[in-house]
Amino acid sequence: MTLIIGPHVSIAGGYARAAKDALSVGANTFQFFTRNPRGGSARALDPKDVEALREKVESGELVSLLAHAPYTLNMASAKADVRDFARRAFHEDLKRLEILPCSLYNFHPGSHVGQGAEAGIAFITDILNEVMWEDQTTTVLLEAMSGKGSEIGRDFSELRAIIDGITYTEHIGVCLDTCHIFSAGYDIKDQLDAVLEEFDRVVGLERLKALHLNDSKTPFHSNKDRHERLGEGSIGMDAFKSIVTHPALRDKPFFLETPQKNFKDYAEEITILREFTKEF
Ligand code: ZN
Ligand code: FE
Ligand code: FE
Repeated sequence: MTLIIGPHVSIAGGYARAAKDALSVGANTFQFFTRNPRGGSARALDPKDVEALREKVESGELVSLLAHAPYTLNMASAKADVRDFARRAFHEDLKRLEILPCSLYNFHPGSHVGQGAEAGIAFITDILNEVMWEDQTTTVLLEAMSGKGSEIGRDFSELRAIIDGITYTEHIGVCLDTCHIFSAGYDIKDQLDAVLEEFDRVVGLERLKALHLNDSKTPFHSNKDRHERLGEGSIGMDAFKSIVTHPALRDKPFFLETPQKNFKDYAEEITILREFTKEF
């Protein structure tokens, strides 16, 4: 069993370049923003570039590529124009992902900014039901959030409530971000089994399709979202060892969103994590 682990990579230089960058740090997957994380339009796809990426996936060098929606995308906004952008960008991204060899598309559920989580969740499910379709090949992932401000997805039951509203339920899953859920009050440092049991009971472990591995700059249950390098924050390296070797988790794809001085520094974390999982 090989650990599936990769960094967050920029696609500014194209997909082939992103693949090369990921492989250069010992990764066998990677995550990328589909467009500028602050929004804006996506670049046209270059068929040659897409083909080069597809070769890396077909050869098995890369697996489970994860596309990340821009984090300004807010389906839960009370403002119609903000929801319009979210609807358009999300649908466009999903269509592009049918061409790219990616199987997963992660997004932040959004912030309700005042009108309440229930109203926000209704906006989210309405939009998802408009932009998803029956035979799409990409699985849409709801990212678990830290609960800063009015973020939706601050606990497992909010994720469950979104899933319950989705028509094409077979195309929806969850991405757990270790920094976010620790910050939201799930003690993955000392109570990993209990947290996973709760996730299984409320959402279902079969919905868990990816994890973001980040340590946290802020203390447990601080409801902040400040990523730290693995082992240098309040979660600590022992917890990451338990996570990547856990029988319920070790087959899932893991993505690093840790702050690095140089892209090459991702190799240090990847080496440590691979060492933990050597015996599997
Ligand atoms: Zn995210
Ligand atoms: Fe994340
Ligand atoms: Fe985050």
